[in-house]
Amino acid sequence: MAKTIQAIRGMNDILPTQSPIWQKVENVLRESVSAYGYSEIRTPIVESTDLFKRSIGEVTDIVEKEMYTFEDRNGDSLTLRPEGTASTVRAGNQHGLLYNQEQRLWYMGPMFRHERPQKGRYRQFHQFGVEVYGIASADSDAEVLMLSARLWQKLGISEHVRLEINTLGDSDERAQYRDALIAFLEDHKDALDEESQRRMYTNPLRVLDTKNASIQALLVDAPALKDYLGEASRQHFSHFCELLDAVGIQYTINPRLVRGLDYYNRTVFEWITDSLGAQGTVLAGGRYDGLVGQLGGKDTPAVGFAMGIERIVLLLETLALTKDIPAAVDVYVAGMGDNCRIAAVKIAEQLRTSLPHCKVMTHCGGGNVKKQMKRADNSGASIALIIGENELDNNQVVVKHLRDDKGQAVIAQDLLAAYIAELI
Ligand code: ATP
Ligand code: MG
Repeated sequence: MAKTIQAIRGMNDILPTQSPIWQKVENVLRESVSAYGYSEIRTPIVESTDLFKRSIGEVTDIVEKEMYTFEDRNGDSLTLRPEGTASTVRAGNQHGLLYNQEQRLWYMGPMFRHERPQKGRYRQFHQFGVEVYGIASADSDAEVLMLSARLWQKLGISEHVRLEINTLGDSDERAQYRDALIAFLEDHKDALDEESQRRMYTNPLRVLDTKNASIQALLVDAPALKDYLGEASRQHFSHFCELLDAVGIQYTINPRLVRGLDYYNRTVFEWITDSLGAQGTVLAGGRYDGLVGQLGGKDTPAVGFAMGIERIVLLLETLALTKDIPAAVDVYVAGMGDNCRIAAVKIAEQLRTSLPHCKVMTHCGGGNVKKQMKRADNSGASIALIIGENELDNNQVVVKHLRDDKGQAVIAQDLLAAYIAELI
């Protein structure tokens, strides 16, 4: 027998048993963005490698070691997108969406990073994200957080996620802080691990983000960015906090939260769960006022976030919040014998026309009552419709309840749609 071919490591199939959970999450996302008047943008999965190098930053996990980069047949260097913001800005600039305009956008789709696959961390994964352009004030930062808080509420996981926020200040403030931080790190160079030593000069703020506990302990005494903030940055942050307070979104300020991508300034934030182990960040983002200009557009303020859909699905599964997800089939229609099978097909088609939201599956392939009822049961349907010779002669249908003890009833075909509408 031929050897079966497996999927690429870290790239998952979403099977029919799992897709209802995905659809539930996706529906909540769509409802929520529409409640805030955001518009969808869809960009290609492949972009030129330069786009990500110039936006995400050369000295970042993503660009240093995670990108799927390849040469196409023309010898151009292309990369499977590792995130959505760079592509959104590229598209915005290319189509003149950002020039002197406000945009509130969202996207959803697969992203690719060559990481070590583990629970909550994959090589193809899916992000949902929002990006707001053209608004410099902190009310837009707060708006994207309100939108995210509403997602948790609608998904029933508000109690299981917490918000951490921080401000990175503006680039000149960060430059001053950077010098102070490098001086501190130089004093403690011997205590740093290899990665932190390497990043110390190229991207010292990332050292703050280390997962190494002994370095974390050392960093308690490091200079704090908040002491380097100017008046405008401080006011931006306090207005942001004030708005979160006003709508009752709770948060903690984590001065070591710096985010892994270079383009952020001022506000940064992460929603974290403690229910998924190490892969606890479910949504992350911040302000990136410099990126549009950096990618060739006119300077445009911007704020956004990206959410990892796999981690949300895992969280719903872990918390056993997937029970209320409806079955794929409501009604299974069975016909006994050749004549009745034709009638069954017609009745099913009429039902789909009369009740567009009813999920109707017709039995295919014949077989006796026992076989057809077994299929009905396996389908997950709550109701089976059975058409035998008797029903055919009298223009009737047997309606059988499969999931409770209500038994069965014989209903006239012309009353069937109304009868089923009451049941589902
Ligand atoms: P992490 O610290 O977990 O590596 P990150 O800082 O690289 O996250 P972002 O680039 O900010 O993550 O992406 C936003 C969100 O996308 C993350 O919070 C996470 O939920 C999700 N995400 C990122 N990388 C992966 C991955 N490899 N597999 C699954 N989800 C991911
Ligand atoms: Mg990462």
